[in-house]
Amino acid sequence: MTRREALAENLASVHRRIDDAARSVGRAPGDVRLTVVTKTFPASDVALLAELGVTDVAENRDQEARQKAELLGDLPLRWHMIGQLQRNKANSVARWARVVESVDRLALVSALSNAALAADRELEVLVQVCLDPEPGRGGAMPAEVLPLCDLVEAAAGLTLAGLMAVAPHPGDPAEAFARLAALRETVLTQHPNATTLSAGMSGDLEEAVTHGATQVRIGGAILGTRPVVA
Ligand SMILES: *Cc1c(COP(=O)(O)O)cnc(C)c1O
Repeated sequence: MTRREALAENLASVHRRIDDAARSVGRAPGDVRLTVVTKTFPASDVALLAELGVTDVAENRDQEARQKAELLGDLPLRWHMIGQLQRNKANSVARWARVVESVDRLALVSALSNAALAADRELEVLVQVCLDPEPGRGGAMPAEVLPLCDLVEAAAGLTLAGLMAVAPHPGDPAEAFARLAALRETVLTQHPNATTLSAGMSGDLEEAVTHGATQVRIGGAILGTRPVVA
């Protein structure tokens, strides 16, 4: 089997999982978008994914993403930043990313806003929510989420698109995604256009979709096992 065939097969099976999960709760499968997490995989894989119809890809490291996005600049791809973000990377990220999913503190908002203005681009922003009992792996604690959304909405160059989260590990993804869904309802009362809910990875996409995810972020189930990064 060629790499292209393997990717096509894996994409089809992930789409089936998404569709089955959506139907199980009476949602239209088309309501859930797939973002493929291409971190650690070569630009050649990203090019194959684009040929196979993938429109959205996500990366977690600025330098790696920038290099791939430059190589593949002719392809109609939307690049998402999903990794922990440093303020001093904002200018670089604003040049390759269309969507920044990992905004989790106030200081990042002004840095990204300035960077978007300098790059003459409008960035879509998702506020990342921490579903762990303690902060640490990225994400704002739930009580901080609404003020952060307000700030993003008010910032020039940024559009508040919604929320993103990673299930706690260890932990029960269904319970965590139920908390996320409730928080999203609160945010929507203040920010009715912030409809994106980015949740669900290879191991828990069903729980995410049944709790309202509009976008899943899938790496391993499509690209295979990632090399361990130290
Ligand atoms: C790596 C990563 C994913 C993809 O995880 P898989 O288990 O490979 O599907 C999704 N979201 C974030 C934030 C990630 O860092």
